[in-house]
Parts: sequence; structure tokens; C-alpha cells
Amino acid sequence: MTIHSHFDYIIIGNGLAGLQLALALAEDPYFNNKQIALIDKDAKNNNDKTWSFWEKGTGRWDNIVKQVWDKALFYSSNKKLELDLKPYTYKSIQAIDFYNEAKTRLRKHTTIHFILEAVLSVEDHDKPLVKTETQTLSANHVFDSRISPEFYSEIDNYTRVIQHFKGWTIETDRPTFKVEHFTMMDYRLKDGDKTTFTYVLPFSETKALIEFTYFSPETVEEAVYDSYIERYITEVLKIEQYSISETEKGSIPMTDFPFNHYSSKNITKIGTAGGWVKGSTGYSFKHTEKKVAKIILNLKQDKKPSKNLFKNKYAFYDKVFLKVLHDENHKGEWIFEQFYTKNTVETMFKFLDEESSLKEELNIMGSLFSTAFIKAFFKTL
Ligand SMILES: Cc1cc2nc3c(=O)[nH]c(=O)nc-3n(C[C@H](O)[C@H](O)[C@H](O)COP(=O)(O)OP(=O)(O)OC[C@H]3O[C@@H](n4cnc5c(N)ncnc54)[C@H](O)[C@@H]3O)c2cc1C
Repeated sequence: MTIHSHFDYIIIGNGLAGLQLALALAEDPYFNNKQIALIDKDAKNNNDKTWSFWEKGTGRWDNIVKQVWDKALFYSSNKKLELDLKPYTYKSIQAIDFYNEAKTRLRKHTTIHFILEAVLSVEDHDKPLVKTETQTLSANHVFDSRISPEFYSEIDNYTRVIQHFKGWTIETDRPTFKVEHFTMMDYRLKDGDKTTFTYVLPFSETKALIEFTYFSPETVEEAVYDSYIERYITEVLKIEQYSISETEKGSIPMTDFPFNHYSSKNITKIGTAGGWVKGSTGYSFKHTEKKVAKIILNLKQDKKPSKNLFKNKYAFYDKVFLKVLHDENHKGEWIFEQFYTKNTVETMFKFLDEESSLKEELNIMGSLFSTAFIKAFFKTL
């Protein structure tokens, strides 16, 4: 057995970004003889989240998709919209299925080396050094999913809204849920005038994930989510008998913090730490696929791996949107109602996937025309 201390690539973090990148490298013959270390402090044996995303037709994770929907519901305080998602479908994956699938596929490659340790520091040199609790490793290039400390120390200079939520997976004895559609956003139960809504993923007639979500500058005590989920189940869904089989909690930064500035020639920040979570939505599953594909292309063309990972115009749109949500947090319900009333879901998804045309973008901007957006637009300029 060869004991390595130098690798072609070291990937720090076996989460969504690290595992997708490792799979893309391991399964591309171009990187056949590259030695790759994957370091994580956690063995990734827990189902710590549910990832949902939209895509057209078949996708590369279909074998582990838990549920697919082609219709969604949107409720504002006084309006119900039934959204036809065609040509997209909305899919959900359990994190544990993703981790297991990725690890099984990666273990088939002798070039992949899993290291279960916390990374303490990374030094940026031509051959960057990665220090763990027990060893120092070097690499030709490091991909790092740890969020830069500057995100916490300098955040006051940027706009940050937190997408924070708790979810209960509940089970009922009697058929209760309709699996044809999931609930994208339900604003009928809100925490004051903050942007808060409930998100419901029905997995069967007797099982659903129900999440109470905030898009707000501050987080709340755990008991607050619990009380809203309970009220939603009893007051809105009118369910009396149920049991909680799983819970999930999350906090996702929605921000214009320039994460990508913390990548260099030798170290590429990936995932949340690389700014791959879309500022205006908190979604990153599909963005991760695209960013990984671009990194692979850059590596093959001998370019800096983080080159051209972002499109400036979408960063600008996200910035304006975040500014409104941050400065006028009560506007969230109105914004999303406008989005889904005045635009087709197809246009919205294309826009959020950063694949829209200028005409579609102008239509979306037009649907949000208001003093709040004009003010935010000029402040962002
Ligand atoms: C509960 C939850 C639900 C979400 N749902 C969705 C969704 O439905 N759709 C969507 O598109 N996005 C969703 N997101 C947002 C985003 O997709 C996830 O946060 C995603 O996991 C981000 O990927 P990542 O690789 O950056 O981070 P992670 O998946 O969190 O991976 C980071 C890894 O780095 C490791 N690590 C950190 N520090 C160190 C260290 N010092 N040494 C060694 N290892 C370290 C961690 O253990 C972890 O395994 C959700 C986020 C959360 C929190």
C-alpha cells in the first residue's frame, strides 16, 4: 500500500460540492491517474437534509430521487395558484442516499483516498499545505468547502438575509396528503410581517415534510419554528392525529458576500464557501452540478479552476433582490406572488437557473416594478 502525503487534488469537505466534484474527477478518464484526497471531519452517515431542485427530463441523480412532482401550489394570504411546472419537474433527494451513492461509486477508484479528520488550516503556496489534527498534506490544488472567516467578520459590509427553517416529517394513519403537487410557499400563516412561509413536500398519502421557513436578517429560537409547524398542521392542514418521524433544521446564507474572491491560483473555494448557493433563493443543488462541470473544463484547459464561474448580471439581480428583502422584509410575500402570478414557472426557473434571455429578465423586472425595487436598484448601482 502506498502512503501518500502529496496529492494532485485535495478536496476539503465531503458534502454536496466536495462529493459532486470528486465524482466528476474520478469518473472522467482525463483525470485517471490523479491522486485525490477527500478530507472531512464527519463520516457523512446521517440524513442531515433533503435536497430539492428542478430540472428538465431525466437527470443524473434519478436513481436516488425519492419523489418527483410536476405541479406545485403557491398560497399568498388571499390567493391560491396552481403551478404547472412543465417542462420541468421538481425532485427531492435524501442527503443520506446521495452520500451513500457517492461514496460507493468513489470507493471503486484506487485514486480516491478518504481521510476522516478536521482540517485546521490551509496555507496557500504553489503546492498548498493542508494541516489536519495529525498530519500535514500537500497538493497541486486544493478545493475547500470551509467558509472563509471573513464571511463572519466582514458581513456587515454586505447584504445578508438568512434562509432559516425547521422541518418535521410527519406520518398519519389515514390518507391525508395529495402527492400530485408540493407546496412551494404558503403565506397563510406568518410570523408578523416578516417573510415567512411553509413549504410542504408530500412523499405519500400518509407522509410529508413540513418546513416553516424565514427569509429574514435574524434567526429565531428553535421553539418558534416548532410552534408554527404545529399550528400549520392543525390550523391550516386540519390534521389532528400524526407522529413526527424525522426533523431537519437549516440556515442558509442568502448574501452578496464575494465568496469567490477567496479562491486563488492554488486554492478554489467550493460549495457555500465558493458562493455556489444562489443569493436570492438559497438553492444550490443544480448550481453545484454546473460549477463542477465548469471547473472540470477549466482544469482540462489548464485555466484557473475558478475562472468564469459566475455571470455578473445575475449577481446584480440577486443583489437588488436581496437589498429589497433585507431593507423591506415585509415585501417577501408580495414579491413571490408577483413572480408566480405574472410570469410562467418556466420563465422563473430559467431565470433562477441563470439561463434566461434579456427579454425574459425585463419581463420579470417589470413584474416587480415598485418604489422598493427602484430604490434598491439605485442603491446597488
Ligand atoms: C437543511 C438544509 C437543506 C437544504 N436544502 C436545499 C435544497 O432543498 N435545495 C438546494 O438546492 N439547496 C439546499 N440547501 C443548500 C445547499 O444545497 C446545502 O447547504 C449544501 O449542502 C451546500 O453544499 P456544501 O458542499 O457547500 O456544504 P456541505 O454539504 O455542508 O458540506 C461541507 C462539508 O465540509 C465539511 N467540513 C467543514 N469544515 C471542515 C473542516 N474544518 N475539516 C473537514 N471537513 C470540514 C463538513 O463536515 C461537510 O461535510 C440546504 C441546506 C441545508 C442546511
